[in-house]
Amino acid sequence: MLCRYTYTLWIHVGYTYTLCILLILAAKQNLSEDGINEIIFGGDVSFAGIIYYLKRIENCSYKESFEKIESIFKQADDVVINLESPLGDVQNPPRRNDETKDLHLLAETESVQSLKSIHVTAATLANNHILDFDENTVNFTAQQLLQQGIAYSGVIFGNNSNDPQVPVMLDKHNVKVALLSYCMEQDGCNDSREVSNISPAIYSPEAFKRDIKYLKSKQEPDIIVLYMHWDMDCGNFKEDGKNNRVVLYLQQFVDVIIGTHPHLKNGHYYVNNTLVVQSLGNLLFPLRGTPFKIFDADGVNQMSYEEQSKKVYAMVKKDKNSSAFSKIVKIRFKKDGIDKANSMYMDLVTDISKKKCLYIRPTKSNTTWNVICASDDDQCLNHD
Ligand SMILES: [Zn+2]
Repeated sequence: MLCRYTYTLWIHVGYTYTLCILLILAAKQNLSEDGINEIIFGGDVSFAGIIYYLKRIENCSYKESFEKIESIFKQADDVVINLESPLGDVQNPPRRNDETKDLHLLAETESVQSLKSIHVTAATLANNHILDFDENTVNFTAQQLLQQGIAYSGVIFGNNSNDPQVPVMLDKHNVKVALLSYCMEQDGCNDSREVSNISPAIYSPEAFKRDIKYLKSKQEPDIIVLYMHWDMDCGNFKEDGKNNRVVLYLQQFVDVIIGTHPHLKNGHYYVNNTLVVQSLGNLLFPLRGTPFKIFDADGVNQMSYEEQSKKVYAMVKKDKNSSAFSKIVKIRFKKDGIDKANSMYMDLVTDISKKKCLYIRPTKSNTTWNVICASDDDQCLNHD
């Protein structure tokens, strides 16, 4: 009798144990339903400059910059960002491509691990800083991303720039999302291309048409997303969706256009069924007004750190720095397009902790997602 009781008890324990394991495994995976693919898109990321120095001198870690948003990112099937600095040896930087350029961004190789830890699964490199240093640096950066399981988009290898761009495919729950990225020619993308065999993908209507044709013939995507590195650094868009000619052209072919590069948050809108986010702003980036040159690779031994640190602390703490404000968008895709009622944005701000480490947090204490272009959305530029 005792034996039978023990046997039954063990069966129960066994079942419970198996059930627990299955539940844990299920919790580790995203539980989006079949037919729904949710992707978070974030803005500009560079661990160069002040972020590198705070890590080095104040003992900040790259990971702690993201601690307040990590769980938010992990809710999505994929997370995409714009990685705006190559990786390499910051203390002994490689050769610069263009000495006359004002600013050269380079981040420590280990910083890429923090992207993986917050569930970034793809990065666009089609920007005006990816080629600040020699070609090997771009190759190295691409390799490091892949090693962390992060796909990259928007780099053309080889000097035959007529080759189509290889799309990144984010294929989850039976919804295939293709990602293409381009840099428009402002602020130096074209210049970097002229001196190198590797270049960020440069936007032209012809290149875009060629890439779309290639994409559709090879992958048959359900959804196409574009990352556009456009407008001016610190610029403000003057046009809205009603008359931006590039947007009016692109929206015929794609479902989403995500804008980066201005380092300031800007509005969003739908044109027909295409979502346009003009500029997400920074996700984590040296803030506007930070003494860049003092904090760049050459400034290592020249700066008066104490003085600069105080300045930066005051500037960020007052929350007056416009480049500290940004947003992320979480878009729910179905096979036939965007599920508008379930596509959201969240406002973020870069703050500085008591320990003097930069970190990102939602602007409101309770994390709030807002439906994009709902009737009360004051960032929507073009309500239907
Ligand atoms: Zn840029």
